[in-house]
Amino acid sequence: MQARASLEAWVAGRGLPRYRAEQLLRRLWVSPVGSWAEATDLPASLRTELDSTQSLPHLHADVVQQSADGTRKYLWRLADGEAIESVLIPSGARRTLCISSQAGCALRCVFCATGRMGYRRNLTPFEIAGQVREIVLRTPEDKPTNVVFMGMGEPLLNWGSVDVALSILNSPEGLGIGARHITVSTVGILPGMAELARRPEQFRLAISLHAPTAAQRLGIMPIEKKYDLEAVLRAAEAFRKRVTFEYVMIAGVNDADADADRLAKLARRLGALVNILPLHPGGAPDLTPTDVGGIRRFADRLRNQGVEATVRRSRGLDINAACGQLRVEVEKKRASGTATKARDALLSGGLEPGRDGVD
Ligand code: SAH
Repeated sequence: MQARASLEAWVAGRGLPRYRAEQLLRRLWVSPVGSWAEATDLPASLRTELDSTQSLPHLHADVVQQSADGTRKYLWRLADGEAIESVLIPSGARRTLCISSQAGCALRCVFCATGRMGYRRNLTPFEIAGQVREIVLRTPEDKPTNVVFMGMGEPLLNWGSVDVALSILNSPEGLGIGARHITVSTVGILPGMAELARRPEQFRLAISLHAPTAAQRLGIMPIEKKYDLEAVLRAAEAFRKRVTFEYVMIAGVNDADADADRLAKLARRLGALVNILPLHPGGAPDLTPTDVGGIRRFADRLRNQGVEATVRRSRGLDINAACGQLRVEVEKKRASGTATKARDALLSGGLEPGRDGVD
């Protein structure tokens, strides 16, 4: 944890007692403050000195969209101007936060909006875990109970940062979210899967399968050329924890009865749960989502073959809550007008303006 090292060094450099470092770290994650001035458990002189030398970094909320179904989407502006997204999805007592691990993405899956913008850069551990921190800072009662790496980017192509971010999310000295409530979603990056498998915690793994044969997968996911379906399945077997297959339903591409039968075989082989995702149309203007009846039939066909299948309810359809779509939308509008115009356009779409970080 870079922040830990830097705070510990700062505390030591000033000859302050070591418990001070622990006290400061608590204010980063456990009971976070937006600025040291708010950390009233610290002496005033120390707060002033910290604010002028060790100011707390922030992700600035550029746009916050609230969907009619309660889903909330954040577009965060990073220090270098890059933008990333998080989506908070409340469901009963559960609040799942979908976070980003990279700005953009290199994988170019044909149905994904982030893929179309290409790769920009890896996020730092702070920028990954900071997506949760900012939400807790704004509204502590919104603290996510679950975190999924299903926002922008491929987490296992940024293992160095994701490894550290997982510790911050899970540790009692960090955000304290149970490992079983944290899911890493991947297209199947083999070295990253091996690294994740080495971690002793029970983090969950979801694999974006999306097709039951290598040939079909190749048509929608270029990564198939590098890490083919069979190799990904073997790596998932070696994971030795129950995995989830994600399967986005695209009409005429992967939604035939024969596809369900092949998928059922693969799922049974691994004891995997299948999570069926309705295709979010915003990510793929040239593709047609399978209709509701078709999705139901597909799911039933899996279940009839002994496979546990869930259908993800499409959330936040009115706010483009699929991967990468908000950034694409904001940038399209900015390109065709001024930033103010873009914000006006977004506002007229029922959005809230973003509130800047509290520093
Ligand atoms: N790169 C990782 C995580 C990010 S995407 C991965 O691929 O798993 C999270 C999930 O959303 C993936 O399963 C991805 O395939 C899916 N997804 C992307 N675009 C989508 C769209 N337009 N509609 C439905 N699901 C989509």
